[in-house]
Amino acid sequence: MRVMQHGRLHRYNVVKGEIAEAVSLELEFASYVGSKFCLAVASGGYALATALRAVGAGQGNVVLTNAFTLAPVPGAIASVGCVPVFVEVTEDLVMDLDDLQDKIASSGARYLMLSHMRGHIVDMDALMAICDTAGVAVIEDCAHTMGAKWDGVPSGRHGIVGCYSTQTFKHINSGEGGLLITDDAETMARATMLSGSYMLYGSHAAGAPTEVFKDISLDTPNCSGRMDNLRAAILRPQLAALDVQAEKWNARYRRIEAGLANTAGLRLIARPEKEYYVASSFQFTLPDLAVNKVRTVQERCAARGVELKWFGADTPTGFTSRHDSWRYVDAQDMPQSDRVLAGLMDMRLPLTFSLKDCDLLATIIREEVGAVYQAEC
Ligand SMILES: *Cc1c(COP(=O)(O)O)cnc(C)c1O
Repeated sequence: MRVMQHGRLHRYNVVKGEIAEAVSLELEFASYVGSKFCLAVASGGYALATALRAVGAGQGNVVLTNAFTLAPVPGAIASVGCVPVFVEVTEDLVMDLDDLQDKIASSGARYLMLSHMRGHIVDMDALMAICDTAGVAVIEDCAHTMGAKWDGVPSGRHGIVGCYSTQTFKHINSGEGGLLITDDAETMARATMLSGSYMLYGSHAAGAPTEVFKDISLDTPNCSGRMDNLRAAILRPQLAALDVQAEKWNARYRRIEAGLANTAGLRLIARPEKEYYVASSFQFTLPDLAVNKVRTVQERCAARGVELKWFGADTPTGFTSRHDSWRYVDAQDMPQSDRVLAGLMDMRLPLTFSLKDCDLLATIIREEVGAVYQAEC
């Protein structure tokens, strides 16, 4: 309300002595994840593209990424003229590290955009060991892991840059928005200039020291994508409440997980000890069912009011699409991912669902999978 009343919505429109809401958000988010620097931007996809440019990726460079992710990820890679090369997904919905090693060797890639898709975190110690040895820079897409951790380290703190989205369907919601974190001063200075700081970068209290901008300020194009003070003001109290919200999501997740345990034909996703997840969505697979029967499960659940998203459909619908529907990328053979995605069901877990709602959801899914599976197998 205060921001709307004074009307200084642009982050560089401040009166003397005032700290812009965008700056306060950056300071608070850097402190939340323990990074040296933070930059608030217009969207998560913008943060990803900016991160790539800021670490030096450009025209024609290969960027490895997950075959299982959402469209803004290959889109960010394509937007800076880079070439996405996909890495297979495992049955537990994380990047296949053997395939990562093979693809680094075969593509010669120097960059990996790692998507923690649907909040599933790969063994980050193993992944970083592979990438550090090969000299591959890691940019983390944490659109689904804000607040999550691997072995106590916040998601986004392993790679050189971590990117987050504050779009409505993510863990904190300003309609649209993104955050970018790093400990690398030059990367942050380039990202700040790219975001459209003009020569006002000195006001970024969570930004790189001004001396780092010396050459960077003139060598880096301004590709406007700042966050405004209104969205920052909307996000600050949500960030303060995030850890409490995370536990609410996780309680719902565990309730559904328990309700679906030992359902014949239904495979739950294993969650490693070292992963602290923020489960704003739920996934399971139906590995033994033919594609048309998976669709039957989806239809039967929908008829009872349970909306499951399916990553196996040939035509992309809603927010879901598949590597083979991103036709601006050269077609790539991803047999393992195709097999996993053919049986993959996905459901958001809004906090408006009560624990009782979760029990009911699990009961319905269990009954419908059971009916289809028994008729088939
Ligand atoms: C939402 C999302 C993004 C991009 O976020 P926007 O803020 O919508 O641009 C990137 N990666 C994944 C996996 C997402 O779900």
